[in-house]
Amino acid sequence: MATNDDGGRSRRNFLRTAGGALLASPLLARPAMGQVPELDLPEPPGRKLGWAVVGLGRLAIHQILPAMAGCRRSAVTALVSGRPEKARRLAQVFRVDPKNLYDYESYDSIARNPAVDVVYVVLPNSMHAEYTIRALEAGKHVLCEKPMANTPADCERMIAAAKASGRKLMIAYRLHYEPYNQALVKFAREAQQEGPTQLILADAGFNIGDPTQWRLRRAMAGGGSLMDIGIYALQAARYLSGEEPVSVNAMTYSTPGDVRFTEVEEHVTFQLRFPSGVLANCTSSYGAGLNRFRVVKRTGWAELEPALNYTGLRMRAWRGGVLQEMPQPVVDHFAAEMDHFSECIQTGAEPRTPGGEGLRDLRIMMAIYEAAQSGRTVPLA
Ligand code: NDP
Repeated sequence: MATNDDGGRSRRNFLRTAGGALLASPLLARPAMGQVPELDLPEPPGRKLGWAVVGLGRLAIHQILPAMAGCRRSAVTALVSGRPEKARRLAQVFRVDPKNLYDYESYDSIARNPAVDVVYVVLPNSMHAEYTIRALEAGKHVLCEKPMANTPADCERMIAAAKASGRKLMIAYRLHYEPYNQALVKFAREAQQEGPTQLILADAGFNIGDPTQWRLRRAMAGGGSLMDIGIYALQAARYLSGEEPVSVNAMTYSTPGDVRFTEVEEHVTFQLRFPSGVLANCTSSYGAGLNRFRVVKRTGWAELEPALNYTGLRMRAWRGGVLQEMPQPVVDHFAAEMDHFSECIQTGAEPRTPGGEGLRDLRIMMAIYEAAQSGRTVPLA
């Protein structure tokens, strides 16, 4: 229950100075002028869980570490990096005790550090499984970036390691923790709003730069645009429908001669059939900017565009012949996601996006690649 200690003290002082006569006054039965009794006061501070961030690349430096400042239940207490000078500088900026800096060799000794409750794995995709399993074996809870791993078999090993260690494993699907995507889920799932969902259109893509980066190396990335950005379109189709797909069709294309796409695919289009009859048409691209999720019903639609940026999301709906803006509360996706996981650890609840969620996506993405390669519809178990 939230309290306002300072407000309480001021009120007590006022009562002392004003004397006992006022106690009987009807004035005291009314709130003071300008007082808003239903103010949304913050919770009293509890212990924040200590987080170690592993892999200090673009996402960790520009999103995750700055987001910690806005967390109510999570604080960065350790850093893991292959580059000690970078780790030392970031430790100064984000006030991490220099004795809590690790590299990839000393990583397992994090087991002996009580300042670390949770490990956030922000490494290239091929390293997710190993560093997640090592952290779980060190007795830490793990938040792992998407995609969960490069293969369903690795996902299964990660889930088994979490079970064996009795620690929690969550996949960092940040759009589950921000209000715009949740508002679109609500529109999609409520049949009273323009009828049941019929079609989902989900497109996610960007024009990838540096041809030497790990995202374009199959061994490190596990695949191309689908594994990195198309996974958001797949996720959207699944959380907007609230169902699991029963079959998939797909096509891929990579621009001939483009040095970026010698190992991994550029574009993927895929279609998912859901048990209720909902169809999803999805696009993933490393060659073009795409950033829209749309839910189509018989008498209207709602969409997010942009749908997956870190900030500046926008929702619009076509209802009753009118196009409406539907602004939602704005939150930091990473702070919300990290605090959700800390809260689950503190309360014993299951995270909204556990390891099983990542495994399901990997299985479907493998089926998408199979459908593209074979030219056939691939059924999903
Ligand atoms: P970066 O390439 O910017 O950073 C990866 C970091 O991993 C490097 O800086 C390095 O950190 C460490 N690393 C260790 N070994 C290697 C290696 N062999 N090659 C390259 N890096 C290595 O990647 P991102 O930060 O963009 O992505 C990291 C993960 O986060 C990916 O899984 C990606 O899919 C995910 N991601 C998720 C997003 C989201 O919105 N949820 C957005 C962007 C990425 P160090 O030097 O400290 O050792």
